[in-house]
Amino acid sequence: MMKTGYQNGHWAATLKGYSIREGYEWLRNKQPKKDWVQLVWNDWNLPKHALISWLVMNYGLNIKAKLFQFGCCPDNRCCICDQEPETLEHLFFYCLYSRQVLSLIEQWCGFKIAVNAYTSSGRSAGARLKLHTHYLLWSACFYHIWNQRNNSRVNMILTRPEILVMQIREDAMRRIRSKIGRTVVNDERTWLQKWGICWGWCP
Ligand SMILES: [Zn+2]
Repeated sequence: MMKTGYQNGHWAATLKGYSIREGYEWLRNKQPKKDWVQLVWNDWNLPKHALISWLVMNYGLNIKAKLFQFGCCPDNRCCICDQEPETLEHLFFYCLYSRQVLSLIEQWCGFKIAVNAYTSSGRSAGARLKLHTHYLLWSACFYHIWNQRNNSRVNMILTRPEILVMQIREDAMRRIRSKIGRTVVNDERTWLQKWGICWGWCP
C-alpha cells in the first residue's frame, strides 16, 4: 500500500516531499474541507440541530428515496405531502409544507434559508451576530422539518407551519440570549431589538 502512496519523490495525495506528517495525511485520506462546515459546526447552533444538518449535508438521512432504492420501503413518496419522491431537496426545500415554513421564516427575519452557505463580508460585531443567527436558523429549519417528517410518518401528525415557525423562533431567540450575554454593542442592540430581544437595560 505504501509503495503506491509514495512515488517519484512525493506523496500521491499532496505532491510534497517525504515526511511522516505528509505520509500520515496521505494514509488517512484527508478530504478537502467542505465550505459548509462552519454553517454546521459552530457553537451557536444547538448540537441536535447541528447533527441533523450534518447528516443532511452528507446525504446521511434515511429518506424514502434512498430506502426505496435499497428495497427497504414499498414506495418513495414524501412522508409529508405524499405527492413527490422524498429526496433531500424535495423534503427540505420544495415540499409545499417546507416552502411554507421557509417562507414564514423569511417574512419574519429576512433570512432566506437555502442550501448555499450564507456569507457575510462585514467584520463588525453586528455582522457576526447576523451571521451566527443565520446559521442558527438554517440548522434549526433542518432539524424541525425532519422532526415533522418523522412525526408525520410514524404518528400521522403534522404541526401547522405557523406553529412550527413559532417553535423555531423560540429556539433561536433562547439560543441568542444565552450566547450573547451582556456584551452587546450598539449595532447589535439595534438589530436585536427588531427581533424583540432585549434585556432589562433596553429602552
Ligand atoms: Zn413533500
